[in-house]
Amino acid sequence: MSSANVIDLLNSNSYKVAIVGSGQLARMMALAGISMGYNFAFLCTEQDDTSAVQGLGHLVQTDYTKLTANEIYLLLGKPNVITVEKEDLDVELLRALNELCRVYPNPDAVEISQNRRSEKKFIESLGFAVAPWAATDHVESLMNAGIKLGWPLIIKRCSTGYDGKGQWRVHNLQEACEVLEKAAPKETFIAEQMIDFDKEVSIVSARDQHGNIMHYSLTENVHKDGILHFSFAPAKDVSDEVIEQAQKIASAALKELDYVGVLTIEFFLKDGQLLINEFAPRVHNSGHWTQIGCNSSQFHKHIRAISGQAIAQAPNKGYSAMVNLLGKAPIDKHLLDDELQIHWYNKSVKPGRKVGHININDMDAAKVEAKLHQTLLDINNPQSSLSQTA
Ligand code: ADP
Ligand code: MG
Repeated sequence: MSSANVIDLLNSNSYKVAIVGSGQLARMMALAGISMGYNFAFLCTEQDDTSAVQGLGHLVQTDYTKLTANEIYLLLGKPNVITVEKEDLDVELLRALNELCRVYPNPDAVEISQNRRSEKKFIESLGFAVAPWAATDHVESLMNAGIKLGWPLIIKRCSTGYDGKGQWRVHNLQEACEVLEKAAPKETFIAEQMIDFDKEVSIVSARDQHGNIMHYSLTENVHKDGILHFSFAPAKDVSDEVIEQAQKIASAALKELDYVGVLTIEFFLKDGQLLINEFAPRVHNSGHWTQIGCNSSQFHKHIRAISGQAIAQAPNKGYSAMVNLLGKAPIDKHLLDDELQIHWYNKSVKPGRKVGHININDMDAAKVEAKLHQTLLDINNPQSSLSQTA
């Protein structure tokens, strides 16, 4: 980057990033970018909740499916770069916007990740192992999937699923058929072998416009009912070979996709082998601990990368953990503990909804583990709140 560009970037106070989406990931990307002097705009529909990004930039809330790319570009205030907080969006629109300004990550990566079949085929084409699967569109293919993969199976909707939504654990052909019977016309599915994994891990990586690649530590994730409950990093009891393999997979995907920004890959770890579950072309819940555990978070890295700055590795500051606040506000005890870093998304609390998270960090792994354990207990026993016991 020439020095003139650097001055443009930092002094003009006019560098604008537009984000498609208005949820907590958009919020945290904006909070990171605002600290760099950038301006933000958010594109969302009338149905989207915008409370997480209130006050953080220019909101374009409209039925944008009826607008041309040029009209959207103008409404967003002619951003320098456009990025996304989710993969379920109109890729053709992203491509059209890409004619007007930079769009990162590139729309091809978003398109591949939108559909579980194309996602799996892409990973397989790179020579890496995914959780065994089969396309299942009708009874015969379900029967074959049962024979090939064994029961029970997980049936997953090919698109629009997230946080465990759009997937069903089925134990026999009859249960599997019931899922397909209830499906909307044109809906497509895959069946996946139920993996009896030792643990789930993910890698959050980033690539900048200069081709530099960085990886955060492998993160260990614990899900309940398909939704992430807590993470800690670095993942425990994982061999150097596994870490190297995860980094190799992420680097290969980033290069193949000519990717700019943060990319996250989720894995099942079984008998020392990584099986790829899925990837997300964006910052990710399993990378939230980087806000406390590294000198530069996944949100900073993403904004740096998409705006033309260079990215470097981000060594860990000791050990970190993250606990999701799912439909629950923090309790007084959390607020009175200055060692806990609370992130609140400004959303209304509804059952099971991601409304915030708590980050924990210490140089002593045992201390992090103890705090994590206590925080999980406190969240599940809100009566321990000081206001209620006082
Ligand atoms: P989502 O897009 O909702 O995150 P995932 O495919 O990652 O969908 O599934 C959510 C969670 O469900 C996973 O993190 C894992 O805990 C569990 N899961 C998904 N697929 C499998 C599988 N094949 N075997 C075992 N558990 C699975
Ligand atoms: Mg997932």
